[in-house]
Amino acid sequence: MDDCIFCKIVKGEIPCYKIYEDDKIFVFLDRSPQGKGHTLVIPKKHSSNIHDIDEESLCDVMKGVKMMAKHIKEKLNPDGMNIKQNNGEIAGQAVFHYHVHIIPKYSEKQEYDIDELHNILKIN
Ligand code: 5GP
Ligand code: ZN
Repeated sequence: MDDCIFCKIVKGEIPCYKIYEDDKIFVFLDRSPQGKGHTLVIPKKHSSNIHDIDEESLCDVMKGVKMMAKHIKEKLNPDGMNIKQNNGEIAGQAVFHYHVHIIPKYSEKQEYDIDELHNILKIN
């Protein structure tokens, strides 16, 4: 979709800290992180929300979420993590390209450098 921020990120038209991509999904750091390693997992194919995403894309995204959750746990050792996904403005959705948040949670406050974090997490 031409006016979609996340489609532009997938196409490389808007810069991001990319962690991983394959032919189906794209994974990158949230620009306003709610915790060290806050990551977004999105399908490359545009859908706006849970209601219009096709089941195959949804499975691809959720496999990516599982893989990234393991990766983040191994690399950053958080004490827990929230996995969440908003549908509709009233529910807190601001970007209307389907995405799942992985938000690591820590019992102690984390100070970090974004470039170092990116180097630790990036896969490809
Ligand atoms: P939502 O509220 O729609 O579930 O979450 C959208 C998320 O996308 C927010 O956490 C926001 O910080 C993030 N975001 C919005 N625009 C950009 C962007 O251009 N780059 C990155 N990396 N994250 C973005
Ligand atoms: Zn899009």
